[in-house]
Amino acid sequence: MALREIRIEGDPILEKTSRPVGILTPRLKMLIVDMIETMRNAYGVGLAAPQVGVLRRIAIVNVDGENDYVFINPEIIESEGEQTGTEGCLSVPGKVGTVTRPEKVKVRALDIHMKEFELEAEGLLARACCHEFDHLNGILYVSKVEGELRDARYEEDEDEEWDEEFDEESGEDAETEEEQDVKKAEGQDAESAEEKKAESAEEKDAGSAEEKDAESADTKDAETAEENDAESADVQNAETAEKQDAEPEDAKDAENQNTVSGDNQDL
Ligand code: ZN
Repeated sequence: MALREIRIEGDPILEKTSRPVGILTPRLKMLIVDMIETMRNAYGVGLAAPQVGVLRRIAIVNVDGENDYVFINPEIIESEGEQTGTEGCLSVPGKVGTVTRPEKVKVRALDIHMKEFELEAEGLLARACCHEFDHLNGILYVSKVEGELRDARYEEDEDEEWDEEFDEESGEDAETEEEQDVKKAEGQDAESAEEKKAESAEEKDAGSAEEKDAESADTKDAETAEENDAESADVQNAETAEKQDAEPEDAKDAENQNTVSGDNQDL
């Protein structure tokens, strides 16, 4: 596990469109584990892969401090209503703005086992999904802000409002399978819950065709263009601009880059 550097507005990678995940390699699983750790470390409630320099369609959301949703290749397939509220972004530190989003969305995505699932989200969870999935299309919330960006430290009063939304969300979503999985993982103690989950995912699925594919892609020379691309982007020092943007794997590099923001509305 390692913290990853969070890219800040102005970094061109934040304006690029991310590519879908074809095979969830162990390296991409590690990316997800690192993203969760990086999000928590920065007190964020969501994080998208391009925010840590990886142009893949992966986003994570945790609006209640307990349940980490992992969305791979997510799509919003239905949306309903409207909510206007305050939003922040880990890539735009210290600022917040007013953004109108759908009140409810239905999301279709792949989970960490590359199994399709649907999630009906509302309130803050819906907002967070919209915000994160925008990142995958190179869109920052600042382009959707109504009025001016404001300094986050003047928004203390809004924290209670957000907390109420957290409570609603955690009550309603407790039934989903992902959530139960996550809770089991969380229950297993300690900082390494995500890591265990990722490890056990690798072990459990070792027999499945998908996983064999992933393993062989990993251990052998990848044959398809996409696999080559994915592996080299992650493993080797890349030559293209996009690949140069890929995150250094070294934990030492990441240690200096903790962006700690005091509020928990950064996405
Ligand atoms: Zn963001």
